[in-house]
Amino acid sequence: MARIAFIGLGNMGVPMAANLVKAGHEVTGFDLSAAACAQAGARGISVMENAASAVEDAQMVITMLPSGKHVLGALTGEGGLFAQAGTGTLFIDCSTIDVASSRAFHEAAQKAGHASLDAPVSGGVGGAEAGSLTFMVGGADATFAAAHAVLDVMGGKVVHCGGDGAGQAAKICNNMILGISMIAVSEAFVLGEKLGLSHEALFDVASTSSGQCWSLTSYCPVPGPVPASPANRGYVPGFAAALMLKDLRLSQAAAQGAGASTALGEAATALYTRFAEEGHEGKDFSGIIEWIRAGREQG
Ligand code: NAD
Repeated sequence: MARIAFIGLGNMGVPMAANLVKAGHEVTGFDLSAAACAQAGARGISVMENAASAVEDAQMVITMLPSGKHVLGALTGEGGLFAQAGTGTLFIDCSTIDVASSRAFHEAAQKAGHASLDAPVSGGVGGAEAGSLTFMVGGADATFAAAHAVLDVMGGKVVHCGGDGAGQAAKICNNMILGISMIAVSEAFVLGEKLGLSHEALFDVASTSSGQCWSLTSYCPVPGPVPASPANRGYVPGFAAALMLKDLRLSQAAAQGAGASTALGEAATALYTRFAEEGHEGKDFSGIIEWIRAGREQG
């Protein structure tokens, strides 16, 4: 069993760390929010007064923080955790962050004598609770092998995507598909409505035809065909539009940096930006269908 420090005990961090505790690992943790610390304490995580105490004697340090600036802020620099942890600690960043910050994370970790992986997840809070997250991992083969058993405790699928930053690259490419496909499915249902087609008929055809995709068959934006989808409960998230927009923006920053043309990714980012700005950032991202139906897509 490993000694693991968990930094960032929010909606995702608490259930992920709690699964490590359940599996018998010794887990210390820290979060800037007192409320988050209290929740973590109630789930068996040994919450410390500060991050430096949490990483003392840890063999692995897992970060689950909002963005690249939080990750680099917590880890790098004089008072950062790379300087506090014992040499050779394995740092695993599970946050969803931009590819450039992720590469900077690896570089700084290795310069300080540590091993590092980027390991963002998909599956949301439900997947974190159930221990069924998908991990997309970037880093060296030996480091991946050393972390596999621990990631397996929190995940249902652990994929080694390549070298440093490859996990983040896979995550934002996947979520760019998701943002684009949710808009495509929503536009098709709205067009179908105007053509007099029932939701059920379009679902029955498209879910077994070439229009089939996850946004349709697992997360259908109209109520009825997929009872578990947020459309059946007033578009309460689920996966909030603000998080979808965050990932789409990361995809566009990466596309610009890499010189890739992603016209539909750019269009989806613009639509989710306006959707969020018009007060819907807390709604499930599939709620964009209501906004499209109301003609807001056209401005
Ligand atoms: P969250 O806001 O609930 O949790 C983040 C936590 O980090 C907060 O409790 C905050 O207080 C803490 N924090 C910030 N700076 C800190 C620091 N320097 N030291 C210690 N704690 C600090 O967010 P979340 O939903 O848990 O998401 C975390 C990451 O996972 C994000 O990058 C997000 O994009 C990604 N993610 C979220 C979901 C989801 O469905 N919520 C799904 C996949 C990926």
